[in-house]
Amino acid sequence: MLKRFLYVLWISVFLILSVLCIKNGGLAAFLASMENRTFDIRQSMLINSHTRKHNPDIVIIAIDDASYEYILDNYGEWPLRRDIYAKIVDYIEAQKPASIAFDLMFVRSMKSDEASDNALIEVFKKYDNVYTSMNLDNQPEDLRVPPKLSLPSVEPFPQTDETVEYTNCRIILQGILDATTNIGMINVSRSNDGVLRRMPLYLKYQGKYYPQLGYLLANNLKGGLDSLHPDEEASVILNWYGPAGTFENIPIYKLIKAAEGKEKLDYDFSNKIVYFGATAASLFDIKTVPVDKVYPGVEVQATYVNNLLDGSLIHKTPAVVNIFIALLLAALTVLCVFKISSMPVAFGTSVTIYTVYVMFTYYAMQFKNLWFEIISPLIFVLSAFIVTVIIKYLIKSRDFDQQYKLATTDGLTELYNHRYFQEQLQIQLNHSERYGTPVSLMIIDIDYFKQFNDKYGHQSGDAVLRQVAMTLKKNVRLTDIVCRYGGEEMSIILPNTKYEEAVNLANKLCTIISSQKFKLTNARESNVTISLGVASAGEDGKTPAEVIESADKRLYNAKNNGRNRVN
Ligand code: GH3
Ligand code: MG
Ligand code: MG
Repeated sequence: MLKRFLYVLWISVFLILSVLCIKNGGLAAFLASMENRTFDIRQSMLINSHTRKHNPDIVIIAIDDASYEYILDNYGEWPLRRDIYAKIVDYIEAQKPASIAFDLMFVRSMKSDEASDNALIEVFKKYDNVYTSMNLDNQPEDLRVPPKLSLPSVEPFPQTDETVEYTNCRIILQGILDATTNIGMINVSRSNDGVLRRMPLYLKYQGKYYPQLGYLLANNLKGGLDSLHPDEEASVILNWYGPAGTFENIPIYKLIKAAEGKEKLDYDFSNKIVYFGATAASLFDIKTVPVDKVYPGVEVQATYVNNLLDGSLIHKTPAVVNIFIALLLAALTVLCVFKISSMPVAFGTSVTIYTVYVMFTYYAMQFKNLWFEIISPLIFVLSAFIVTVIIKYLIKSRDFDQQYKLATTDGLTELYNHRYFQEQLQIQLNHSERYGTPVSLMIIDIDYFKQFNDKYGHQSGDAVLRQVAMTLKKNVRLTDIVCRYGGEEMSIILPNTKYEEAVNLANKLCTIISSQKFKLTNARESNVTISLGVASAGEDGKTPAEVIESADKRLYNAKNNGRNRVN
């Protein structure tokens, strides 16, 4: 009874907690961050499997620590003069690259020198495959007046109307703005934990949508991109090729030397996609990404363009698929728990099923760029497991209770049966001997029952047996054990009851029965009487057989002395 109550309590607490947890946004956020972690782990394992190769035509002109020192030593200032960039672009363009992109902003407000700036502006006019960047932000108007952008905007994807809107913009050299439309935004999207997993395709500013640099570049290189499935914030999930340094890196100082004719550079830029960007940590364009804690921003751009070009962006599976998988795994788990009788084996099998699913998610990411959720099905499967185990135990304990009742109860009178009587008598006698407490036994036999049956029929006899049993049960203590001894004989084990008390009770029962009207078949009524023999442990015997024999003898005496009495 208590066990059953506890089970119901557990299930209730579990269900209430689940509902509270789902309602509470904190848990949802926690589960989402756990899911992100599983993504990071899958990505980190995948980059070690080396199955997906990055595009070898993407090359990074790295503004690394060595180059930073070189620039300070040779030009005495930072940032690098803009005519030097112009010279480098001319140098690379001579070798016919696919494109050149600056993951750098030539910000208007930065220290600039007009002649040097004009040299850079000229290269943007001269080459239509050179790209540069801007970024959008939310700085207040009193700091900076939001400028109008005359750059071409893009058509938003229909499902992405929640795109984050920016209210201000870091403006770059007017000459560059006038010279080219190859200007992309370099904003990134970060998850709550600060890790960069997504990149926007475009961003909203003053009611229009402006492309991210990588999206603009890849779109132009490929002449249109298909199979993009951005989320509602117009972001896509990056698929990483390796840790920092995966893409080919050339320190910019080598290009400066080559462009100024100081030293030859043995590198062929034809058909390359060239990215300029900071890789030095001191220049603060460093991100944490799923596969590395320190990852240069320019390599994020390279990864993004590479993903867009080879169509390897990660797609999250739709909610309906996740629900289907969770249900399927939960169904298999439930089946295991019900079909496998050994709990450790059922648990092991469920864990194996789930592990196979986790392996499947790994390969789905490797070969199909799909992100199947791991955490929500796990929570679902765990819940299904716990609930099923509880239900199974409830059913088991109910079955056990039923079996136990069947094995110990007499079907006609619903009293305990002879076997239970024998067991209990032994137990009570042991208890009495051990603790010195009294225990008595009463054997009851209905008088002239054979005649009764003959007169009224067996059906009526059975009805009387049931009613006598009920009367006996009603008139003794809960701790007294009323049994059907056999035929129309019943017995009562009376723990903690002395002989005299038992005799008193026997007399009381005798009177109650004799004054009771028993209902028979066909709406008839009749009286019966009983004879009772009482014996107690100790003076009347120590073993069940001895005590039963004493009680039986006294019952025999009661019969001989005229019945309807106690002896
Ligand atoms: P006495 O006063 O000496 O006990 O006479 P009696 O006729 O009751 O004699 P005894 O106890 O030997 O007889 C038992 C009778 O009880 C025999 C049988 O007809 C009847 N009986 C035993 N079990 C059942 C039962 O399950 N149902 C019915 N209807 N009768 C039973
Ligand atoms: Mg009898
Ligand atoms: Mg009898």
